[in-house]
Amino acid sequence: MSNELKVKFWGVRGSYPAPGAGTVKYGGNTPSVEVQAGNRTIILDAGTGIIPLGRELARMKRAGEILLLLSHMHHDHTQGFPFFVPAYMPNSKLHIYGPDGTHESMKNVLERNQSSETFPLGLRDMASAKDIQAVRESQVILWDEAGVRVAESAIGLSDEAVVIRIHKSYAHPGGVFIYRITWRGKSVVYATDTEGYVGTDKRLVNFAKDADVLIHDAQYLDEHYWGGLAGFPSTQGFGHSTVTMACEVAASANTGQLILFHHDPAYADDVLAGMERTAKSLFADSVAAYEGLEIVLRDEKMSVQLQSPANHGRDVQYAQNG
Ligand SMILES: [Zn+2]
Ligand SMILES: [Zn+2]
Repeated sequence: MSNELKVKFWGVRGSYPAPGAGTVKYGGNTPSVEVQAGNRTIILDAGTGIIPLGRELARMKRAGEILLLLSHMHHDHTQGFPFFVPAYMPNSKLHIYGPDGTHESMKNVLERNQSSETFPLGLRDMASAKDIQAVRESQVILWDEAGVRVAESAIGLSDEAVVIRIHKSYAHPGGVFIYRITWRGKSVVYATDTEGYVGTDKRLVNFAKDADVLIHDAQYLDEHYWGGLAGFPSTQGFGHSTVTMACEVAASANTGQLILFHHDPAYADDVLAGMERTAKSLFADSVAAYEGLEIVLRDEKMSVQLQSPANHGRDVQYAQNG
């Protein structure tokens, strides 16, 4: 089994897909992130980025068993699922875990997204085996030799087990799950759709403490958030962060690399490049997520590989002690 914990970004855009010439560099697909722990495949969210990811998993014959974690049930985090190829493969087993909605179960929301009025095929028309479960913040999701399961604690597990902890954030309308995936001592925190607090989100800082990688919502420029960007109303209270807020969490939690995520669909590539520069001035080890970005964490040392989007050919590779 590979000893690498790999993270690959397939969709990095928030709110709605943003194709077009202005978003070629970072990409226009909505959130979906692949995490590979050895030979186990975990997917964070099912925005449109999950569509090319699904094709790749099928092509590579890696669609046998997949754990899909949903942060919450908003469109931009579920809209790719009806086009996720492994869901149609009879030999695939999908574990789909996430939070129940405020008024409706998670399963109902997924079924309603594919009701006969809104989509030609229902969940039941998708041939894969599906284990759909709402999970709670107090639980842990485990994946070891015994398979994928939800448990009340992670005590007594081998180092081979993938352990996923859940933090429920209230800093997004309806709430959102933030996940921390740990395998062989390396950990990745996925904190999308969350808004910073004055003086930093202390609960989130605790949860993300010393993580090797922090993927954090950084949707807005500060002036946009505060209502000073021409043509855009203030977005305070919308449940998304600024670059400054994301950097504050990374610094307070003493994390490794910070990945700016859930980019505003109205922002073109040059705006995002500027936000990345701002982030680096506040937290040096920052990168704005783009489609195709891959991060590889190994047992003793962390090596980060940045492959530039196709048409730019920039290739940067560096290693640091993790
Ligand atoms: Zn979102
Ligand atoms: Zn949302």
